[in-house]
Amino acid sequence: VTIQDAKGIATVVEHSTLIFDISVPVTPNLPVWPGDPPVGIRPVMRIAAGADCNVSELACSSHAGTHIDAPWHFIEAGARVDEIPLNLLIGPCLVVDLFATKGQIDAEQLAAAGIAAGTRRLLLRTRNSQLWADRPGEFVRDFAGLSLDAAQWLLDRDIQLVGIDYHSIEPFDADGDPVHRVLLGANVVVIENLDLSGVEPGSYQLVCLPLRLAGLDGAPARAVLIADA
Ligand SMILES: [Zn+2]
Repeated sequence: VTIQDAKGIATVVEHSTLIFDISVPVTPNLPVWPGDPPVGIRPVMRIAAGADCNVSELACSSHAGTHIDAPWHFIEAGARVDEIPLNLLIGPCLVVDLFATKGQIDAEQLAAAGIAAGTRRLLLRTRNSQLWADRPGEFVRDFAGLSLDAAQWLLDRDIQLVGIDYHSIEPFDADGDPVHRVLLGANVVVIENLDLSGVEPGSYQLVCLPLRLAGLDGAPARAVLIADA
């Protein structure tokens, strides 16, 4: 049985299984990091134009849309995106609500967010998720990101994967990108540009599979959460 809800985000594949798509649609209107190339989609062949089939050319940054940052993004000796172990990208995952946070997310807010000991995969649902609906096509600079003490808090608790619902895990104006350097330097998997507006906080199974782009600094990914039955 397959049913989509009004927003098209939940698909019932069995009676007790809900799958939430938490990736953003890749379109030419997708905002990108200032200076990055926009998403380009060019029709190569179109049935409507008399061709045998439909084929498109896709051109984009390795950080377009929902994507993984590989350690090599900021650490010259770090692992490439195709070297990230799949067992980090698939498994139990906690979504926490930080929607009310106005500025940066600091260690104090993480400590108060109800993150159970033993959590290894963590997705942060912040006010950012609302930007996908409220300001589509726009790159908003005052999004919520982690402060450096929050990144250290994650390492201290042995979090191995962290995801956030906008373009960067750290604030836009973070000087020297310390949060990226700390997390990627510790081989924490970073997922950016999630849309968590359609999921409630709680426990899920995460499946987030970046394209197997050999030797690259990051890769677009399809990310889904499977509700615990
Ligand atoms: Zn990135």
